[in-house]
Amino acid sequence: MTGPYTLPDLPYDPAALEPHLSARIMELHHDKHHAAYVKGANTTLEKLHDMRGKNDFAELSMLERNLAFHVSGHVLHSLFWTNLSPDGGGEPDGPLGDLIDETFGGYRGFRQQMTEAASGIQGSGWALASWEPLAGRLVVQQVHDHQGQHGQGTVPILAIDAWEHAYYLQYENRKAEYFESIWEIVNWDDVAQRLATARDA
Ligand code: MN
Repeated sequence: MTGPYTLPDLPYDPAALEPHLSARIMELHHDKHHAAYVKGANTTLEKLHDMRGKNDFAELSMLERNLAFHVSGHVLHSLFWTNLSPDGGGEPDGPLGDLIDETFGGYRGFRQQMTEAASGIQGSGWALASWEPLAGRLVVQQVHDHQGQHGQGTVPILAIDAWEHAYYLQYENRKAEYFESIWEIVNWDDVAQRLATARDA
């Protein structure tokens, strides 16, 4: 079916992030997992539409939960792909680097908190670095599934996928190695651009 949500192409070849992430992981993760969230989001909107037409709201709570899950999955995977680059790695500079220094005492402190947030999730989830507009700060968030424990109004600028599907095929149970590897491919230009856009909004 078609719907308002569409699967974006990967911004690079699936093999481009090797050896940090294998081509097969990228193919499955994008073509199967991300695609399923896009489909789920569109299907759920359709079911909500049908529900209104029948004036039968018995399934409302389940559909609202599904909508939050699938739309958030779509949003975070779209963010994750562009947060990574074969030319990534290194340390952030400019206004992003300054903000990280201010809040986390430097890149190392920021990286440690993000890595701890990602590796400490019980079950499936994400570590996010998000712009919090009321205080004008960066915060690290430990998100369960795709949507739990996410502060309203915050804008994620860097997302690390901590679901087993993101690494297990290549890293098996060595998830610490996966989280170390991710930092070698972070696209800081993309993160900095997202910070600038969130700050201007
Ligand atoms: Mn994922």
